[in-house]
Amino acid sequence: MDKKCICQETQRHFLNRAFERLKLKETQRELLLSSFRETRITVPVTLRHNGEDVLHTFQGYRVQYNHARGPFKGGLRFHPDVNLGEIRALAQLMTWKTALVDIPFGGAKGGVAVDPQQLNDMEREALSRRFCQKMAPIIGVHDDIPAPDIGTNPQVMAWMLDEYSKTHGFRTAIVTGKPVELGGSAGRLEATGYGVAHLAHKVAEEMSLIPAQSRVVIQGFGNVGSHAAIGLASKGYKIIALSDVNGGVMNETGISIDHALAHVAESGTLTGLSGTAPVSNIDLLELPCEILVPAALEATITCDNADAIQAGLVVEAANMPITHQADERLQQRGIVIVPDLLANVGGVLASYYEWVQNLQQFPWDRETVLSRLESRLCHTYDAVTILANERQIDLRGAAYELAIRRVDHAVRLRGF
Ligand code: GLU
Repeated sequence: MDKKCICQETQRHFLNRAFERLKLKETQRELLLSSFRETRITVPVTLRHNGEDVLHTFQGYRVQYNHARGPFKGGLRFHPDVNLGEIRALAQLMTWKTALVDIPFGGAKGGVAVDPQQLNDMEREALSRRFCQKMAPIIGVHDDIPAPDIGTNPQVMAWMLDEYSKTHGFRTAIVTGKPVELGGSAGRLEATGYGVAHLAHKVAEEMSLIPAQSRVVIQGFGNVGSHAAIGLASKGYKIIALSDVNGGVMNETGISIDHALAHVAESGTLTGLSGTAPVSNIDLLELPCEILVPAALEATITCDNADAIQAGLVVEAANMPITHQADERLQQRGIVIVPDLLANVGGVLASYYEWVQNLQQFPWDRETVLSRLESRLCHTYDAVTILANERQIDLRGAAYELAIRRVDHAVRLRGF
């Protein structure tokens, strides 16, 4: 089954389970299962190929899933596997994330089916600007606010901000995850990984894990994976394996994250990191460890490898890294899973703080952002665990219930 189907099927499964528990009527379910608007565009960009200019047309999408609780909110992804089904599933997940952490946003997601590694800076800029031009009629400071995701970064947001501002006046709050110099928030870049590390540590403590004796494996060393690694290493955990798209590196006695970051800054990849042995991205997930952090793409833990996972705690830094069948198998084996909508919610939470600072034209310092982030994450985690214990269900089930209840309530209050 291809990834888009797996994502949709997994989402559908988790939702149906929550709908059953909440005893939602068929009509309510139908509303929560459909997206508000799905926009598909073509994004033509001239690329330099073998010394010649060639016009390429990429497919772009923005799914605005639900805005009962506030403007649509969610990232923009540049990745070759992007397709409408995947973006829809991710937009739906954003709806539950913003509701779970109780910020006044709905959920959306955008993407362009492109390999950004194959583009130079000028081409990436042209792609970002063209995408923004074409989406301009449906995005807006109080309508839909994009942010970075896989394959995009603060620079892409800066180009989008500039493009949008050409016709709307300087509108810092049109995107979040911007460079700090353009109204981005202090702490936003590291917020997702920081939140992952914070929650992983909280759950690990409850499981009586001792940081220095706990081995951590992280799949993915992009913005989220690298900041999760920095956060966990600073709390004393032993990071024994890391990976990026080119493969993984491991050292049972621990990897210095500063050393890994310096190597990546110099060579662009983890491959060849001195003092480590190579390991494939597939084998990496099956290494003996206490904590596993999938921080790459969707559906990396499936029925094919679920039984081989050795970690006692899995923290979903990526969106939808575990299929629902694999989730069931891990649960049966007593493995604790911190689900994506909780584990990586620090990103959109910091985006909300950025948006608030932009609207007020009043920047906060990093300590204020991170302490508000930490306290809201703790509060959300506590609410999820209380419900999970009360109902004797897993953290994912409890998180979905809390989020769906809030969205459903808003939908009914507004009379959708
Ligand atoms: N792309 C991130 C996510 O999946 C952040 C979205 C946002 O900040 O709007 O949660």
